Amino acid sequence: MKYSALKGVHDIYPPDIYIWQKVESAAEEVFSAYGFHELRVPIIESTDIFVRSIGETTDIVEKEMYTFPDKADRSITLRPEGTAPVVRSYVENHFYNLPSPQKFYYSGPMFRYERPQKGRFRQFYQIGAEAFGASEPKLDAEILSMLKLFFERLDITGLTFEVNSIGCEKCRPDYKKALSDFFSKKTSELCPDCKRRHINNPLRILDCKVDSCIELRKGAPQVTDYLCTECREHFNGLLSFLKLLNITHKINPNMVRGLDYYTRTTFEVTSEHLGAQKAVAAGGRYDRLVEEFGGPPTPAIGFAIGMERLITMIKDRNKKEIEQAPKAFLATIGSRADIEGLSIAEKLRADGIQVELGYGNASLKSQLRRADKLGANYVFIIGDDELKSGIIKWKNLKDSSQGEIGIKEVSGFQGFYNQQK
Ligand code: ATP
Ligand code: MG
Repeated sequence: MKYSALKGVHDIYPPDIYIWQKVESAAEEVFSAYGFHELRVPIIESTDIFVRSIGETTDIVEKEMYTFPDKADRSITLRPEGTAPVVRSYVENHFYNLPSPQKFYYSGPMFRYERPQKGRFRQFYQIGAEAFGASEPKLDAEILSMLKLFFERLDITGLTFEVNSIGCEKCRPDYKKALSDFFSKKTSELCPDCKRRHINNPLRILDCKVDSCIELRKGAPQVTDYLCTECREHFNGLLSFLKLLNITHKINPNMVRGLDYYTRTTFEVTSEHLGAQKAVAAGGRYDRLVEEFGGPPTPAIGFAIGMERLITMIKDRNKKEIEQAPKAFLATIGSRADIEGLSIAEKLRADGIQVELGYGNASLKSQLRRADKLGANYVFIIGDDELKSGIIKWKNLKDSSQGEIGIKEVSGFQGFYNQQK
């Protein structure tokens, strides 16, 4: 019997895992500087939570959710995104009683039943952040600035920040009407999904990925022409903060995003290195969602970064940085040396030095070969003679220098501390 992982899901293992860890710690570092705290929310939630927030007529809810009854016949969904669970948690735990704004970040797997392809999986990972309790565009600009700093920290280049405002419950109905009128002359040419969208939620037509629909929306009315005074001021405010913070950006009036809960600011970060699935991060404001979840009126904004797409960009750029080699390899000959080697290794490990040992009575030659394969910096060789004299030989595998050191002094070995990690 042979088993394999399900379609569209994947294992993450060395050496890639080191990039994942690097990205996760960069996020933690940068987001903490902006006052975000980690929040861990469950992977499963009540189905309603996603249907109500993301919207019944969105692709995610219509086609992509992993929804199933549990043993007590409750409808459960594997989270397709992180914002709805975070908002649920914000309301349930009364975080709105804490001083505003409250800011949280999360990371972990999301699940969407999509057609697997490059940059698109059924279980994929996101790192996201959500800030609650401030409506001014200064916060929107800070969020974008935080994302920019995060990508800079990872030396990612070739990104475009696209921004838009999709208005509020006051002005959006006018825009929806204008869109609906625009497409009513073309309904017969729309794809079957968009025919439905035209009736239920015309905004979603702008998010359709079918080529003929992309063609048909040329010349469609633009949301930025329909904003009410408050939304226009908010958007102008954002644009001037972005200028102040030197965040180069492009206004994309067609970017409505695939989730219904957004209000005003929406944004996407796209990469010239990614091909068809080029969005590496996306987000927006959702000023009504907390209230819809039963909390007090609380404006909020957030985003999510697609981990797989980000990791691909880092991997394509530089394969070298994903190495993670041990600092020391202790090659031992004979059972007494084996025991001594183990106790030296344990001391070094307690000092945080990564150490590998020989196993299975391997010959010195094969141990050295393994040390080389692992990319170890130093090899220490311990045999009967060394145990007798108390002096062991070391060799630097990178520059071939060598020397001797007292068996008791290994933990103070300068080589571990001189070299860069
Ligand atoms: P797309 O237009 O690519 O389908 P989306 O609008 O559905 O993206 P969001 O829900 O905004 O995506 O998720 C934020 C980010 O998560 C995306 O920009 C992308 O990087 C990543 N992402 C979304 N769906 C997937 C997936 N199925 N596999 C891998 N990454 C994904
Ligand atoms: Mg999608």
